[in-house]
Amino acid sequence: MASSLRHFAGLGCFPAAAFSSGSTCFLRRDIPNFCAFVALRPIRPPAAATAPAKPPASPSPPMEEHRQAVPIPCHSGDSPPALSAAAVPKTPLRLGIVGFGNFGQFIAGGVQRQGHAVLAASRSDYSDYCARHDIRFFRSVDALCEEQPDVLLICSSILSTEGVVRAIPFHKLRPDTIVADVLSVKEFPRNLLLEVLPPGFGIICTHPMFGPESGKHGWGKLPFVFDKVRVTEDGVQVAKCDQFLSIFEQEGCRMVEMSCTEHDRYAAGSQFITHTIGRVLSQLNLKSTPINTKGYETLLQLTKNTVSDSFDLYHGLFMYNINATEQLDNLEMAFEKVRQMLSGRLHDFIRKQIVERAAPVPTDPSGKLANGLSSSPAARLL
Ligand code: NAP
Repeated sequence: MASSLRHFAGLGCFPAAAFSSGSTCFLRRDIPNFCAFVALRPIRPPAAATAPAKPPASPSPPMEEHRQAVPIPCHSGDSPPALSAAAVPKTPLRLGIVGFGNFGQFIAGGVQRQGHAVLAASRSDYSDYCARHDIRFFRSVDALCEEQPDVLLICSSILSTEGVVRAIPFHKLRPDTIVADVLSVKEFPRNLLLEVLPPGFGIICTHPMFGPESGKHGWGKLPFVFDKVRVTEDGVQVAKCDQFLSIFEQEGCRMVEMSCTEHDRYAAGSQFITHTIGRVLSQLNLKSTPINTKGYETLLQLTKNTVSDSFDLYHGLFMYNINATEQLDNLEMAFEKVRQMLSGRLHDFIRKQIVERAAPVPTDPSGKLANGLSSSPAARLL
């Protein structure tokens, strides 16, 4: 562990190191498995589902109390909800976005299109942007929480989320507030929120599988992954959970309910690979040519899409998905295999020329064949 940490401290952002080596190796082999760290976060044992946790009577309860929280799936359990979800009047949600960068702003558009109010807080000052878009901007998360939004949506970078979440003044929020996130990895925020949130708070982990580029013409049919990690059976919270999810449903997303663990497994083999290939291609500085094929156009587009996301995002996909290292290894092995397939054929060809020495062809004294080419097998390949 200590040596892994030393690696980590010295590495900064691994791809810069990986691609600047000048080695023929596609990707470095010595990347430590940072993702193992994610596994170190304690995961609460799935204790028998009991009655929904009561909202804390006082402000922020002690940490020990947080650990008692039990994930309660939405709409499940033996006891009937206090108030049926359908009976809860559908007033528009007040949704507080924490982290109002590229993606926070993008998601706010859909929330507003569905008639809900957006409040926002971020490290940087987005007050001008918010003034232009009818959004209330708060200079601190504290100030935003004093407004007691129904749903707090975490849109911060994966790397900063732990610090952001731990700094939320939960005691200022209503005890049945729903906290959701949009991080592109899911086990990490799930475990973090279960650990840090007071027990009465709802938790919905989501990943809209699209962004400002791929979703700029609408969200229709784009996948929206969600996991109702903990929603108490109190009618209001269930109703607000449904109302929150209906934003994406109404926007036309393909709603995919999936556990956070399953998401991370799929995403490492698809999204992380896509981003990695895009980052690798971006190192080649590919340019459009007068004879682009459709395939090449696709690669150019992939590169453009990938680098339009922050490097922090890509770094987070690697660091905080326990399956990413394995995929990186697979990619490296696949590259080596393809290289070997090519060089293997080349070797076979040359060996055949050297060993079998096809029927001698007359040469002139300079070693040139009668047709003017060199008689050397290797030279003939050039
Ligand atoms: P990002 O680089 O992943 O995150 C930028 C956001 O993080 C900004 O709001 C920024 O705040 C905040 N942030 C960064 N460092 C911080 C720190 N040290 N302390 C507090 N806040 C910090 O880019 P993004 O594209 O906007 O993504 C945001 C989240 O959405 C990520 O978790 C990402 O995984 C998820 N997501 C993104 C996409 C996409 O296509 N982009 C799609 C699905 C999900 P300031 O702007 O105030 O500095």
